[in-house]
Amino acid sequence: MRNDIERVLIDEEVIVKRLDGMAMDIERDFPAGTLVVIILLKGALVFAADLLRRVPRVLEIECLNVTSYHGGVESSGKVDFPDRHFPEVRGRHVLLLDDILDTGRTLHAVKRRLTEEGAVAVHTAVLLAKDKPRSEEVGADYVGFEIGDEFVVGYGLDYQGKYRNLPYVGVLKLTATV
Ligand code: 5GP
Ligand code: MG
Repeated sequence: MRNDIERVLIDEEVIVKRLDGMAMDIERDFPAGTLVVIILLKGALVFAADLLRRVPRVLEIECLNVTSYHGGVESSGKVDFPDRHFPEVRGRHVLLLDDILDTGRTLHAVKRRLTEEGAVAVHTAVLLAKDKPRSEEVGADYVGFEIGDEFVVGYGLDYQGKYRNLPYVGVLKLTATV
């Protein structure tokens, strides 16, 4: 698997150190009480597992499938909610986790839906954010790392369903993507 990677962008030790800081920021910022955390599947799984174990607070964890990328390297722009069940968030403070902020459409669409469902407040955290222009309303409240505008895999992020279990974030070799 390592042979398919052109370059390691962020290695494991650097990621976990940053997660300690993000967890402290989250713990400090949210009002006391139980927090509902929503993990966007599948990309945010690895990030969420490592981040949430560092947050010293009672959490209720929900998972939500959204489809926007359809396995390729280009965003389709449309966000769907294929699950029949939507988490119960009425009157709750919600922390929404995703793997990466690219165009911002995914987080924006999910945030809007959570607000429609009655969440009191929705904050967002991503492991990665691509350095590209985005309107103010589609940012994330907590960002692990800013990266360049290139396609990355690992630590939850896939290419055609693969590479999610790489312990680091890296860039694929072009030959691995054909
Ligand atoms: P957005 O809606 O912000 O454009 O895209 C967010 C989603 O696109 C992420 O949840 C992720 O699934 C996918 N995505 C965006 N950039 C990348 C990337 O560089 N690598 C991978 N594997 N997925 C990406
Ligand atoms: Mg994805």
